[in-house]
Amino acid sequence: MTAPSDLLIRNVRPLGAQAVDILLRGGRISALGARLPATAGCAVEEGEGALLLPGLVESHTHLDKTLWGMDWYRNEVGPLLTDKIDNERAFRAASGHDAGAQSKALAMAFLALGTTRIRTHVDVDTQAGLRHLEGVLRTREALRGLMDIQIVAFPQSGLLGRPGTDALLDQALAAGADVLGGLDPCAIDHDPVRSLDVLFSIAQRHGKPVDIHLHEPGAMGAFSLGLILDRTEALGLQGQVVISHGFCLGDVGLAERDALLARMARLGVALVTSAPPARMV
Ligand SMILES: [Zn+2]
Repeated sequence: MTAPSDLLIRNVRPLGAQAVDILLRGGRISALGARLPATAGCAVEEGEGALLLPGLVESHTHLDKTLWGMDWYRNEVGPLLTDKIDNERAFRAASGHDAGAQSKALAMAFLALGTTRIRTHVDVDTQAGLRHLEGVLRTREALRGLMDIQIVAFPQSGLLGRPGTDALLDQALAAGADVLGGLDPCAIDHDPVRSLDVLFSIAQRHGKPVDIHLHEPGAMGAFSLGLILDRTEALGLQGQVVISHGFCLGDVGLAERDALLARMARLGVALVTSAPPARMV
């Protein structure tokens, strides 16, 4: 009997190259070439000259919080990042937001458009506890084999401001989160040295990598970034640290920016998503 994954796709262009046929057996590419013969029982799809790409990678999303597929929501909220954070936390508590159902709905939408690997930041705070994590863990299990979902335990409401958050992050990593998240150690936690020391000590305890949201602008963000790089170096975490956004890199002078980027490259610190045009990196 033919394995269900045997599939011949005709007339596709791998990464834009010349059109070929491609034969998949047992979930792997077994042949690439012109006019491949269809094996017995093999499904055949006509590619019509379309591009053939590897599965796409979404390196930064928040599956747990999405309102995807729900009613229109009018977001009337103050201008500060903390206004937005407080507002969304309260909205989800009041609406009984189902992080499991919502994360699955958005993950399926990603999958339908070709994304097969996702890193998702999942809110962990003293109001929701591990509720969001539990929902996304269910989604990860439900889609196992179709999609790899990497979960970041993310203190969206800050690490120091709400006592007990550090213990929850600890539990989240023990419960199956893959990565420890962080957030603006100056602007949100108001004590960057302590905030980052607490964060890195939790990561060290679990031997897990770190991914830090850094929205802080200019000199403030560059100062935080320097502290993050100091800890990356001192703790031997080369290749284990990611900066999400890093808007400060678009604000500081060119010499300072280049020095920070060179140090990041040396320490294997990746930068993902630099977002809005007003804060270009
Ligand atoms: Zn984010």
